Amino acid sequence: MSTRIRLTDVTKDYGLAVPAVDNVSLTIEPGEFMTLLGPSGSGKTTTLNLIAGFETLTAGTIAFDDADVSTLPPHKRNLGMLFQNYALFPHMTVAQNVAYPLRERKVPKPDITRRVAEVLDLVQLTGRDGHYPSQLSGGQQQRVALARAIVFGPAALLLDEPLGALDRNLRGVLQAEIHRIHQEVGTTFVFVTHDQEEAMNLSDRIALFNNGKIEQVGTPEALYQRPETLFTARFLGDSNVFPLDKPFDGKAVWEDSVWAVDPGTVAAPTASALVVRPEDMRLSTSSVPGTNSVGATVRAVEYMGAYRTVVLALGRSGLTGRARLGPEDTAIAAGQTVVASWPVARQRLVLS
Ligand code: ADP
Ligand code: MG
Repeated sequence: MSTRIRLTDVTKDYGLAVPAVDNVSLTIEPGEFMTLLGPSGSGKTTTLNLIAGFETLTAGTIAFDDADVSTLPPHKRNLGMLFQNYALFPHMTVAQNVAYPLRERKVPKPDITRRVAEVLDLVQLTGRDGHYPSQLSGGQQQRVALARAIVFGPAALLLDEPLGALDRNLRGVLQAEIHRIHQEVGTTFVFVTHDQEEAMNLSDRIALFNNGKIEQVGTPEALYQRPETLFTARFLGDSNVFPLDKPFDGKAVWEDSVWAVDPGTVAAPTASALVVRPEDMRLSTSSVPGTNSVGATVRAVEYMGAYRTVVLALGRSGLTGRARLGPEDTAIAAGQTVVASWPVARQRLVLS
């Protein structure tokens, strides 16, 4: 089963200085993997709890397909939930844990047995039916919790930082598992994380939260390649950020430079910062035709494993910036004066 979840002008106000969720509208398509991404305290969990019905709305509506569920209690919303802490029943076996939602729904016994076997196969825990949670690793326990959350065919699965308690390697493994399971079951997934890499890896689309509001919604590629604001550009990956001397008016001016602008790269008429990704920044001894550029001094060269990054002091003011080096850039060393340039089409003018 997969359901469209529609939030319209949703607000949750706890009476703090700003509402926890502030007039959010978002449509999550049937079968979509939507990630709510953002820093701690930006309103992701509150939004998920409003969808689940654990919190009441201050204003706005939530609909599942065409049904308004705004005042429906949680147990009538037919949602699967997965949290950071596994919350398994310790006195029940794996099979009993997974069967629990089916028993609650009075599913006939033979169907329960078949369904539990199917889902344990899906999460690759076949043969563990009789184990107790305490006999399983953290990763395995989280697989059981996932099996229990989807066994009854929920309208959607809500996941709140489900990999947060796992170490880095295991996180990667379970990320791939969650991705595969989403593909196989085709249910709508709403996934909360503060980890931009996790969001980029898993999501069909990302809703980026900032201070209770959605800053931007789009595919991982759109958010990375076409950020509309400085917040988005900074939250997803590294950026060189040039605060323009005056808002864009056909020309982009910073210190002594007047840069060419491709209209397709301007997020809004009042854009006031120009951003360039480190991988688009090239270093050379003189300016390169057809690019925008600025004088820079090499502050340091950082070895990152697969590549090297140069820390730069840009322009007259020595604004800190970064460029990623290619394998051919062997001669770059700290103290050098260089020209940092980038293709006009690769820069982005954003709101700050
Ligand atoms: P996130 O999940 O993005 O870290 P939350 O949704 O948990 O953010 O919190 C958003 C804001 O709402 C925070 O400022 C938090 O302190 C506040 N908040 C969350 N839950 C409550 C609550 N039950 N009572 C009062 N304030 C809350
Ligand atoms: Mg949270």
